[in-house]
Amino acid sequence: MSRKIVAGNWKMNKSMTEAQALVQELNGMAGAWPSDVKVIISPPMLYLTQIAVNTGDNLHVAAQNCHAEKSGAYTGEVSAVQLKSSGVNFCILGHSERRQYFGETDESVNAKVKSCLAEGITPIVCIGELLEEREAGREFSVVETQLKGGLEGLSSEEIEKCIVAYEPVWAIGTGKTASSDQAQEIHAFIRTKLSEISSQEVADTVSILYGGSCKPANAKEIFSKPDVDGGLIGGASLNASDFNALINSY
Ligand code: PEP
Repeated sequence: MSRKIVAGNWKMNKSMTEAQALVQELNGMAGAWPSDVKVIISPPMLYLTQIAVNTGDNLHVAAQNCHAEKSGAYTGEVSAVQLKSSGVNFCILGHSERRQYFGETDESVNAKVKSCLAEGITPIVCIGELLEEREAGREFSVVETQLKGGLEGLSSEEIEKCIVAYEPVWAIGTGKTASSDQAQEIHAFIRTKLSEISSQEVADTVSILYGGSCKPANAKEIFSKPDVDGGLIGGASLNASDFNALINSY
């Protein structure tokens, strides 16, 4: 099975009309996408149901977050159970913006990962160091802590069902991309750590995506690295021609 994935994170952008127009454009382009690349979009939560019914077979839908509990008095929240019942099969978890603005921790990410797996939703687990952590030479230990924390207590079979996204925080929305060598170095490290907490076989099947100012101009070079299995794309996923070019970078 191919590990290649290009996933777009729309964040809190677009009106419903704009979102539907973008999906329509992407549906029109999907026939020409490489058949071994899985394409995922992550619109705002409010639009998920509507978008999920309008995507063709080549386009999958992810939530940007969920709550760890199945149901209950959690005003404003949406559970993995509810996502699954709305036709959503992927969920981004632990994005650096959720860690920064909403107090998410490795523990809360781990609880959400478990709730998604229990519902058959594929978690896209985001990890990555801050600029000051990289400058202090701590990028490997930060990534290892977040990876192990996010996947704590999972069986090898469960780890195999996860997608990992390495997103150095200093590269998100800043225009500063990690070099392809910097990305490869961390991705290879993540795969080694995955093999230590599961097995080499499992580590070899997990997709590890790069995220951080990935654009059509730099994607080919980054995606060419052996342990980079695609991208989690923010800004460039909001425009059909850029996202299409990223998908076709493979
Ligand atoms: C992201 O937010 O996941 C991301 C990678 O954003 P951007 O591509 O805009 O840097």
